[in-house]
Amino acid sequence: MNIRENIEQVLSDLPQGVRLVAVSKFHPVEALKEAYDAGQRIFGENKVQEMGAKQEVLPKDIEWHFIGHLQTNKIKYIVPYVSLIHGIDSYKLLNEVNKAAEQNGRVIDCLLQLHIAQEETKFGFSFEECKQMLTDGKWKKLAHIRICGLMGMASNTENEEQIRREFRSLKSFFDEMVHTHFADKSAFCELSMGMSHDYRMAVTEGSTLVRVGSKIFGERTY
Ligand SMILES: *Cc1c(COP(=O)(O)O)cnc(C)c1O
Repeated sequence: MNIRENIEQVLSDLPQGVRLVAVSKFHPVEALKEAYDAGQRIFGENKVQEMGAKQEVLPKDIEWHFIGHLQTNKIKYIVPYVSLIHGIDSYKLLNEVNKAAEQNGRVIDCLLQLHIAQEETKFGFSFEECKQMLTDGKWKKLAHIRICGLMGMASNTENEEQIRREFRSLKSFFDEMVHTHFADKSAFCELSMGMSHDYRMAVTEGSTLVRVGSKIFGERTY
């Protein structure tokens, strides 16, 4: 397992303008250090405590992306340093992040997570719920968060047509939201989709941020 080679291989699959989030959850600090030494600067984690522990000991020029399900009582631990929260799935959560960000004197970049997979277990807004929240407009008063785009996870299936359909549905929803709610907000430009087994397809369907874990760091041992 050569982390540097794996990163180079993934990067060689990404067109210009598409960024790589190295998903380092469950992997030790040494593995992240190796990725850092290979030039990687964006890391994704899905546990608040684990991300905090790694952030403390690793270089300060790393961008930490939180990609998991965020509980409101844990927001305060990541708000001082997090660069992007991928998994906002309710107005309530957005509002709580805004409050914590205000207390920290920060504006935090967030992505709205959409439920695009067939599986029941994946978090996220439905398209309808997301539309409702954006139309309702309360979010516009939240001065300490910035909605930078959307995030989604395709079904965990071998069926490539299904995965492609799910990515397409998210991209077309993204385009619609750009026109209806973010026409004057150039920050709304990120589409976070694609993991180890489907990032190439995600990129052809318009992803701007791929979240790749096992292809870089090897299989996780849970
Ligand atoms: C774990 C995880 C990934 C990375 O998955 P791999 O299959 O290891 O690339 C991407 N996104 C989210 C939200 C994850 O939880």
